[in-house]
Amino acid sequence: MSNDRNAELFERAQRVIPGGVNSPVRAFRAVGGTPRFIARAQGPYMFDAEGRRYIDYIGSWGPMILGHGHPAVLEAVQRAATEGFSFGAPTEREIELAEEIASLVPSIEQVRLVSSGTEAAMSAIRLARGATGRPMLVKFEGCYHGHADALLVKGGSGMATFGHPTSAGVPPEVVQHTLVLEYNNVEQIEEAFRLHGAQIACVILEPIAGNMNFVRAQVPFVKRLRELCTQHGALLAFDEVMTGFRVALGGAQSLYAQLIPGFAPDISVFGKVIGGGMPLAAFGASRAVMGLLAPLGPVYQAGTLSGNPVATACGLATLHEIRRPGFFEALASRTRTLADGLAAAGRDAGVPLVTDCEGGMFGFFFGSELPQHYNAVLATDKERFNRFFHAMLDRGVYLAPALYEAGFVSAAHTAEDIDATLLAARAALACG
Ligand SMILES: *Cc1c(COP(=O)(O)O)cnc(C)c1O
Repeated sequence: MSNDRNAELFERAQRVIPGGVNSPVRAFRAVGGTPRFIARAQGPYMFDAEGRRYIDYIGSWGPMILGHGHPAVLEAVQRAATEGFSFGAPTEREIELAEEIASLVPSIEQVRLVSSGTEAAMSAIRLARGATGRPMLVKFEGCYHGHADALLVKGGSGMATFGHPTSAGVPPEVVQHTLVLEYNNVEQIEEAFRLHGAQIACVILEPIAGNMNFVRAQVPFVKRLRELCTQHGALLAFDEVMTGFRVALGGAQSLYAQLIPGFAPDISVFGKVIGGGMPLAAFGASRAVMGLLAPLGPVYQAGTLSGNPVATACGLATLHEIRRPGFFEALASRTRTLADGLAAAGRDAGVPLVTDCEGGMFGFFFGSELPQHYNAVLATDKERFNRFFHAMLDRGVYLAPALYEAGFVSAAHTAEDIDATLLAARAALACG
C-alpha cells in the first residue's frame, strides 16, 4: 500500500468534510501532523490506512473498555442487527439496560436513553431547570459537557461573574444564565451560592475531569458542592459520560460515596462505555425528578433513535463483561502499571512528568505537580507534550492528540502491551 495513504485520504476528506474530520480533535490541530485514518481495530490495536499498527490508548475516547471486537459484544450486535435496526417503538433491551444502570448506580431510580453525551447533558440540564423552576446553571472551566449552546462558555473576568460564549453562533443571551467557576475552588462556589443561591437550578461537573486530561475533584470540594446544593435546593449533576463504568463499576460517584458518608449526586449523565462503541448515552435520577419528563411531566425530551436496539445490545453486552468479578481490579492494576511506569520513565530521563489514574482511565502532564484546575493544566509543557505525542505515534503508540484529553486502557491491553508502551516512552523521552 502507498506510504502516504493517510495524507491522501486527509486531502480528499478536507474537500468534502470541514477540516477533514467529523469531530475537531481528530484533526491533530493541537499536535500538528497528519491524522491517521483507521482501517480496522482488534483487541488493543488500531491499524491505519497504511497497514501500520498502533497500541490504542484512545479507545474511541473511552467506550472501548473491552478493546476492539470483543467476541461476546460482536455476537450480541450481530444478533440484534438481524432482528432489526430500529423500530421507533419500545423494546425489551431498553428495560434491561435501564435496570442494569439503576442496579449499578444507587443514586439512580430511572433513566432515559439517548444517542450522545451531548444530548444527555443538555437534557439533564433542561430537566434540572424544569424541576427547580430556576434558570441558572453552574459549570467549571475545563469541564466539557458536550456542545449544547448554553455550555459553550468560558469564565468571566471576576469571581462569580457570568461567562462569554466560546463559539461563534452562540448569542450572549443564551449563556447569560451560565456561571463558569474554577474547578476545585471552594471559595468561588460559596460566593456563587451566596450571590445567586435562589436562582441556581443545577451545578454540573465532571467528577474526574477527563476533558482537561485528568484532574480529580478534591473530596472537600465535592462535599461542599453537595452541602450547598442541598441547602439551596439546587440539583447536583455528575457528568459521568467519561467516568461512568470506566473508573469503577459504579462510576466516580461510587468513589466519592466511599469518602463522603451518604454522598450521591441528584442527576447523573452517562455515555461512552454504556454504548460499548455504539451511539448511546443516558441520564438518570430519582423517580420524582425523572417523572417530570414527557410523557409524564412538562419537561420535553425525545429522540427517533433513542434506545436503538443494536446500540442497546452492544451496551448490555459490554456491561455484562465489565461486571464480572475482578474485572475492575485487573483493569485498574494494568492502568496503574502504565501510569507509574510513565512517571518512572520521566524521573529517569530527568523530565518533569506527573501521572494519575483511576480504574481504566489515566492522565499525564509535563510538569512537576498534578494540576487542580484548568489554568494549571494550561501551564504544563505543551511543546514537550506535542513532541512526546509524535515520538510515541512514530513508535506505534496512539495517545490522545491533545494534552487536554485523558487516556484509556482496555481489558484487552496485555502486560506486554504496557511494557512495549513504557519502552517506547523511555526512547521518546530520551530524544528530548
Ligand atoms: C464525551 C463527553 C461528552 C459528550 O459526549 P458526546 O457523545 O461526544 O456528545 C459529555 N461529557 C463528557 C464528560 C464527555 O467526556
